[in-house]
Amino acid sequence: MNNSPISKINLDGRDFYVKRDDLIDPFLAGNKYRKLYTLLQTPPNNLNKIISYGGTQSNAMLAMASMCKTKGWEFIYYTKPISKTQKELQSGNYYHAKRFGMWHVEIEYELYKDFIASLRVNIEDKAFLVDQGGADTSAKEGLEVLASEIRAENLDVKSLATPSGTGTTALYLALAMPEYKVYTTSAIGDVEYLKEQMSALETIPDNLVILEPSKKYHFAKLYPEFLEIYKKLLKAGVEFDLLYAPGMWKTLLEQTDEEILYIHSGGVSGNESMLSRYMQKGFV
Ligand SMILES: *Cc1c(COP(=O)(O)O)cnc(C)c1O
Repeated sequence: MNNSPISKINLDGRDFYVKRDDLIDPFLAGNKYRKLYTLLQTPPNNLNKIISYGGTQSNAMLAMASMCKTKGWEFIYYTKPISKTQKELQSGNYYHAKRFGMWHVEIEYELYKDFIASLRVNIEDKAFLVDQGGADTSAKEGLEVLASEIRAENLDVKSLATPSGTGTTALYLALAMPEYKVYTTSAIGDVEYLKEQMSALETIPDNLVILEPSKKYHFAKLYPEFLEIYKKLLKAGVEFDLLYAPGMWKTLLEQTDEEILYIHSGGVSGNESMLSRYMQKGFV
């Protein structure tokens, strides 16, 4: 793999650099590529199975399905029950992951939590369990590779930004680049929740700055201002995802003023289904 390129975009009269991790691969891109880096470097014969769990529109799920197809590994993915409509959709991350051979198993709501806990206990020799969203200490190595790519660019920038779900990406990036400030925002819960998630992996370093959006956003809900910023970014030359990126960009525009290198976290494959939801609501 060559280093992903850097683009320069202008947004509201401000220049930003963007590290184009979205261009790494159509299905295994963005921070999921970075987080799965160690597994991607693992010789196919060392493992025969990846086990994971979480949501059925997850970008991590699609990235793991794509990886397993390439490696010849089985991929078993556990979720709570999903609707028939969702199973029959001919687009989106679930559809593509199934095409890659993902074996999807639904677990009843009441049993889900205990079942997921039991996965860790019964793991076979050649199986590897990836926690929801790839929140795993094994993500460290891939973020160190990203850090070395950033250093090699010798840009005159001292601040980085990337949005958080579990916070794994932002945390390991900040640890790998102590000489930079790393901005992030939480797309899933509040700042406290994000800090909790991060602290389960490593001590949060001082150069990691969690910005709080001016308004509370709920994950995967539709917001006209998110769509607006998505379109503005598209017009500026780069497509971003509709779940994580809009909140990060909005907050950066409102709360920072220095030059920033934004690490594109990928996830553009999920836009198809998000845009059709916006369209159904009459927003597009
Ligand atoms: C998964 C994902 C994130 C969140 O990454 P974490 O490492 O869990 O914080 C951010 N952006 C996109 C597009 C993602 O798919």
